Amino acid sequence: MSTRFSFKAQITWLLTSLILLTVIFLTGSNWFRFADYAENQIERQMYFAQNVLEQTLRSQEKVLTTTASVLAADFGFKQAVATRDKKTVESVLLNHGKRINADLMLILDLEGKLSTTSSLHSLDTKTIERNINKLPFREVHAQILSIENKVFQVIVVPVKAPRVIAYTVIGFEFDQIALLKLKELIALDLTLVQNNQLIDSSIDDKDIIKKLLKGYQQTSPNLLLTRSDYFHKTISFGGSKDVKATLSASLTQIQSDFNRLIYSMLIIAMIVIVIAITLSRLLSRGLSTPLHILMELTKKIGRGELNVPTLAKRLPVEFSELYQGFSVMGAAIENREQAILYQAERDVLTGLYNRHKILNIIADSFEEKINLVVITLNIKGFKALNDTIGLSNGDSILKDIAARIIVFIEKSNQVLKDDTMAARTNSDEFLIAIPINDTNEINHFIELLQSELNRPFWLDDIKINLSLYFGVANSLDHGIDAERLIRRSTMAVSLAYQEQVSLRFYQEGEDENYLYKLRLIEELKEALESEDSPLFMNYQPKLNMNTGKIDKLEALIRWINKEEKFVNPELFIDLAEKAGLIVSLTRWVILQVIQQTEQWNKMGYHFKVSINLSAQDIQNEQFVDYLLTTVNNHDVATTQITLELTERDIAENEALVIARLSHLKSLGFAISVDDYGIGQSSLAKLKSLPVDELKIDKTFILTLEQCQKDQDIVASTISLGHKLGLSVVAEGVENKASLMLLNDFKCDYAQGYYLSRPVSAEKFIEWYKTYESPL
Ligand code: C2E
Ligand code: CA
Ligand code: CA
Repeated sequence: MSTRFSFKAQITWLLTSLILLTVIFLTGSNWFRFADYAENQIERQMYFAQNVLEQTLRSQEKVLTTTASVLAADFGFKQAVATRDKKTVESVLLNHGKRINADLMLILDLEGKLSTTSSLHSLDTKTIERNINKLPFREVHAQILSIENKVFQVIVVPVKAPRVIAYTVIGFEFDQIALLKLKELIALDLTLVQNNQLIDSSIDDKDIIKKLLKGYQQTSPNLLLTRSDYFHKTISFGGSKDVKATLSASLTQIQSDFNRLIYSMLIIAMIVIVIAITLSRLLSRGLSTPLHILMELTKKIGRGELNVPTLAKRLPVEFSELYQGFSVMGAAIENREQAILYQAERDVLTGLYNRHKILNIIADSFEEKINLVVITLNIKGFKALNDTIGLSNGDSILKDIAARIIVFIEKSNQVLKDDTMAARTNSDEFLIAIPINDTNEINHFIELLQSELNRPFWLDDIKINLSLYFGVANSLDHGIDAERLIRRSTMAVSLAYQEQVSLRFYQEGEDENYLYKLRLIEELKEALESEDSPLFMNYQPKLNMNTGKIDKLEALIRWINKEEKFVNPELFIDLAEKAGLIVSLTRWVILQVIQQTEQWNKMGYHFKVSINLSAQDIQNEQFVDYLLTTVNNHDVATTQITLELTERDIAENEALVIARLSHLKSLGFAISVDDYGIGQSSLAKLKSLPVDELKIDKTFILTLEQCQKDQDIVASTISLGHKLGLSVVAEGVENKASLMLLNDFKCDYAQGYYLSRPVSAEKFIEWYKTYESPL
């Protein structure tokens, strides 16, 4: 798991470790250099000491040689030696010896026996004799002589008279004092060793000497790897075979110097680290404080506090630039937010509120116990107007309406000194809410509004008169539920539209009806999806007046709802169309009818069956496919199916519908124009439609026998239909008289209660079996 360090800690760590690394590196390199330098220094000292030691030995040798030759040349001495005048010899020896501070003055006879000695020490004669006689040279150079634990530099000079009669031996001892003197000269300790036995040393410390004797030595000083107190170097001493001199350089000083160096480096490092930590803290605070400020700022912006305050502290340039950036961003977001808010609350085209916002405003007003009258207004035929004058002109009319509404609001505000609210709630639907204190005020406002809006509108020079529908609901009468009140005024306006009146007030109970319709829609949805559907088909026969036979039927849907109530098909078909359920409803009908037709085919009854379609069905992309596949999947011919549409259904998307109908017709289906005669029917139009059948609307037939006008219309429609090559059906035949009239008019088919009401397939067959032609 990785731990995340704060920015501060990271900077501190970075600086500290950098400094530590530097210190370690510097200390290391200093150590190396120091050690190297010290080692060189010691080597040089050793070299120097060696030289000095040799020099000293040589100068002592000179003294010894001179003294010896002076002695040897002394006639009295020679004579004394020759005559073995022991006393004289001794005193002469003593004199000479004293003069040069010699430690050893001896006379050896030719056999090597010690005849005289003027030694100032206590060595016994025999030992001296034995050792001196081991010396390789006589007469030549000074030599190192070790006796017992003493070391001497000696010279052996023959006493000639004229032949050699004896030998004089003169020597200096290297005792402690001599070693200390030498130490002073060479600035190193000196130890004399014979066959690993200590002779004498200027070093006091016994342990060191012990180590030295054990041969604990190095060829060169190695200060890096060892921590010894001394560096020893053994050299030969005055050419002696067995006596060696060891030069010892004390390393303690170097060592302590070195330690001091390390300590001071460490102290410096500590100080620098402390400074670094302090600095990095300051630096990181210098960074983290502005970062913190910026973070707080982003949090504020995140919370929606977009007004960025001016910077109180001075920040580094980059940060204050960033801060400025945030401030600009905040302002931009605020602008955009306001724009979004505006768009969320407003209708972009007119600048009025939208439905959502006005709903909230109305709800707020009710919270404040303000009563409102809500007026919904709708433009009559706006879609058609839009198609005629073009979208942008349509838009400018909408804007004009909005502007007039605003003027109206301003006027009414002067009266009310209260807020009046307006919204565009749909393409050509506006909503105005005005505070009221009693219902008597309502009419006044409506008059004001109508007079403002009923004046003609102008598109450049073209005068346009709009018809407006007004729907009104108020909270005094209809309650203070904002949503319900808006719905009621909208409902009132659509009722105004249906009833073709310009002003409609909401009336008690209409809302319940509306809710009932909503419930029906929900129930119908379920009905269409359920296996055991409460929907079923009825069939109504059409009498072929040319043959007197029944060869056609119209399929009509039926629904017994949950409350076991028969629901008027016109009502639920209308609801299905509005709720977008009609396409699936028609599919359901198609399947039922084709299955039924197939069954009848199998029974040997070959009827033609009409299916009623809606505008949405024929415009639906999958409709033709579905119909054809369903027919093909059953033992039914396309020619057995007639499709009934009203002229209004065809007019909705004429080009497309005509193309579809032609296609269907080419596939063998028959097309029938239903409810002919009501609405904007025109025979001229019929000519161009791919239809086979014309169904005269029942309003012309129901009381045909009583109304001469209807008879004229029906007779001429039949004859014109025939001229266009269409088969004509009269529906709504309720009595024999009408049937006979239609027969006279040469109507092709008659359909109506007089023959049979729409009944179930079984009942129809029962009826059919006993049917006799009424003609
Ligand atoms: P429509 O297509 O005009 O159907 C004929 C209507 O006239 C039927 O009403 C039928 O019962 C009625 N009718 C027939 N003969 C007489 C008569 O002698 N006197 C009277 N007073 N009425 C008669 P229904 O079944 O109530 O259907 C009403 C409308 O519902 C239909 O009018 C049709 O537009 C629609 N509709 C019914 N079934 C369907 C359907 O399956 N699909 C679609 N899209 N619409 C359907
Ligand atoms: Ca029909
Ligand atoms: Ca009809």
